[in-house]
Amino acid sequence: MKIGYLACAFGRHRVDQDAIRRVTGGVVARCGRCSTPLEQVAPNYWEVQQVRDAGLSHRLR
Ligand SMILES: [Zn+2]
Repeated sequence: MKIGYLACAFGRHRVDQDAIRRVTGGVVARCGRCSTPLEQVAPNYWEVQQVRDAGLSHRLR
C-alpha cells in the first residue's frame, strides 16, 4: 500500500469521487489514498487545499 502514498508524495493524488463536495466558492474532495484535502481549480484539475480553516474542515467531516 505504500506505493500509493509514494505517488501522493509526488503530488499525484487520486481524487475520491465519493468524497467530492460542493462548497461556497468551489468544489472540494479528498485523496482516496492519503485523505489529503483537495480542491478543484479547473475541470479535471485538482490541487491540494492550502487553506488552514479549521472551521471549514470540521464541517466537511
Ligand atoms: Zn494522496
